Amino acid sequence: MKIFVQTYGCQMNKLDTNLVVNSFLQAGFELTEQVGQADVVLINTCSVRNHAEERVLSLLGHLKHIKKTRPNIIVAVFGCMAQRLKDDLLSREAVNIVCGPLQIPELVNLVNNAVGSIQKQSDTSGDIRQKPSQEQLQELDNFEQMYDSAENNLPAQAYVRVMHGCDKFCSYCVVPYVRGPEVSRAPEKIIAQIKKLAETGVKQVTLLGQTVNSYCYNGFSFADLLYEISKINGIEWIKFVTCYPKDFDERIFKTMADLPKICRYLHIPAQSGSDKILKAMNRHYTSSEYLDLLQKARQIVPDIVIAGDFIVGFPGETEEDFQKSVELIKMTQYKNCFIFKYSPRPGTKADDKLSDNIPMEVKKQRNTELLAIQEKISAEINKSFIGKTVKVLVEGTSKKSHLDETGKKEYPQLIGRTAGDYIVVFNGSADLAGRFVKVQIDRASALTLFGAMV
Ligand code: SF4
Repeated sequence: MKIFVQTYGCQMNKLDTNLVVNSFLQAGFELTEQVGQADVVLINTCSVRNHAEERVLSLLGHLKHIKKTRPNIIVAVFGCMAQRLKDDLLSREAVNIVCGPLQIPELVNLVNNAVGSIQKQSDTSGDIRQKPSQEQLQELDNFEQMYDSAENNLPAQAYVRVMHGCDKFCSYCVVPYVRGPEVSRAPEKIIAQIKKLAETGVKQVTLLGQTVNSYCYNGFSFADLLYEISKINGIEWIKFVTCYPKDFDERIFKTMADLPKICRYLHIPAQSGSDKILKAMNRHYTSSEYLDLLQKARQIVPDIVIAGDFIVGFPGETEEDFQKSVELIKMTQYKNCFIFKYSPRPGTKADDKLSDNIPMEVKKQRNTELLAIQEKISAEINKSFIGKTVKVLVEGTSKKSHLDETGKKEYPQLIGRTAGDYIVVFNGSADLAGRFVKVQIDRASALTLFGAMV
């Protein structure tokens, strides 16, 4: 039987899709890229923004249409939206299976049960805030071993989950209600997994957690984990996302300064420059505490690269509040920053208690203004690379190819990233994917550095 997979959402979801696909391949299914050829359609969903959920509903509308002529196709919806909307999704004509993010090890069984049956299948958490049982955690841990770095289209790179869930309850965010409580994986399991990945040629691991720096397993901290992973032979770069400002312990910065394998890159969302809005967001820090944190990081790790996130148009955000975000973004000097327009999520505190009172036009205009400021900052920072040589892990070829300097031979255009997460584009042979190369930068835009291999 053939499976077709559609994934929405973040890196954590992409990791889950990798595990799910491999569990199906091991069970004898084949993968197809054509939905029209699929016997089973797997949809990995995201609930973080309304738009992501709308896209899933629109795909389900399309599948309902396809099912009129091919009624035997099995449609399984899994991930965050499956946990959030369980019964609503199950009642839809197109859907055969609903499976929560903590139940993905069961997905193959659910599909096998659904074959030839009219009975719909569902497996989600009854009380998502209840800590998963030891048995469930063990099952999830075993399932992590399904990860196949060859599947993620980034040669020599792998993503490794170090924790599940989140306990922060930022007032706008649905994650604690769909991915459950924060649970750190045992360090020995993470280390054994990374050792195995290194043996298969993985050179860069990216550790994933909703608040990765909050990692703690029986007193074994995130800094301890970084220290142990950096001892693994074959692993050359260690990255991690996403960080929560409040949970930074100075030892993490010291580890970054001392251990050459830890990439000097941090993604630390600020979300707002206004203390009033930060309080309403339940973020537990002020803008000056946030700036102090960045200053400390830069003191201990002078060449650290920092990226951020902001939300504009949060309920009650006045022009004065927004101007505080403008000031903060100017002061942070991020390498890049993701800027989102507030989108109310059902079941969150912000949606329950606050009215979404900022008109879309204002949200759009604030979004554009912050983006323009960040673009200028990014362009300036990127310009400072011109003439310098950077080390890059090659990700692969870009879709475009172009002529080399002589104008005679066509090379593919390669894309790679530095340890600081700068995107670098240069000419080179496609078989360099997964290797480290040095590139001298001769041109820069706000998003990309361009250069030639040395
Ligand atoms: S830290 Fe806040 S924004 Fe991040 S996943 Fe947890 S609740 Fe959501």
